[in-house]
Amino acid sequence: MLCWISSVMSSTADRGGSGVDLESARPLRLKILDFWVDRVNMEQAVARAENFLHDDPRPHAVFAVNPEKVFRMRDDPVLRETLRNADLLIPDGVGVVWAARVLHGVRLTRVAGADFMESLCALAARNQLGGFIYGAREEVNARAVRILEERHPGLRIVGRSHGYVAAHDMDVLVQRINESGASILWLALGSPRQERWFAEHRHDLKRIRICQGVGGALDAVTGQARRAPHLCCKVGLEWLCRLLREPSRYRLPRMS
Ligand code: UDP
Repeated sequence: MLCWISSVMSSTADRGGSGVDLESARPLRLKILDFWVDRVNMEQAVARAENFLHDDPRPHAVFAVNPEKVFRMRDDPVLRETLRNADLLIPDGVGVVWAARVLHGVRLTRVAGADFMESLCALAARNQLGGFIYGAREEVNARAVRILEERHPGLRIVGRSHGYVAAHDMDVLVQRINESGASILWLALGSPRQERWFAEHRHDLKRIRICQGVGGALDAVTGQARRAPHLCCKVGLEWLCRLLREPSRYRLPRMS
């Protein structure tokens, strides 16, 4: 986070643009430092997802943007390209919200990946769409499916798999996803594993219309990993709670 703050502060000196990435075909996409994020609140993000269902029949990628990923992206070209080409990049981290404000005077509202997953569950239930959840440990995955179906009456999780599938079994998993009839796929493999998986398999997904990377969200759904207290989330200090609980996640990245 400290590296992040210093990157943002040093870039304020030499940037003055509108914040809109003019090279991008997506007018809502902001370029901040060397990454992108979409200018959407929860309601707008859900509306975009709803449009994906009626858009061209392909898997539309939804990923969360936070400072951890932004630093990882610098050394990971696949992660970078996958995020760059995503259909929706939600402002998950408070650092991203803050950077948009400092660099471009744009007020973003934070859309946490875990909360957006719940909104997609509600959307799936409303539209009678099947979902497939791939990721996390077997017991966490199974329990999360039960909890989400209880929380969202009408939600049908038509297929699921833990996240420790061997490479030689991946074709079978992709076939299961295709045959399940699911329209929404949640990847709960952590980052950059889930973005890499999507980059490798997106062309093989025949019926999926929305694919969201949800990282460790299933652990939070089942209570294996506690989300930060509500007050911390509200004041934008969820990252600090995670840092205190899991300091190893925040090894300082190499600065280029
Ligand atoms: N995981 C997985 N397969 C793997 C490695 C990890 O399914 O090969 C799962 C793990 O069980 C956990 C999640 O991925 O549920 C990792 O979450 P983490 O908090 O590290 O991801 P982040 O939120 O940082 O993207």
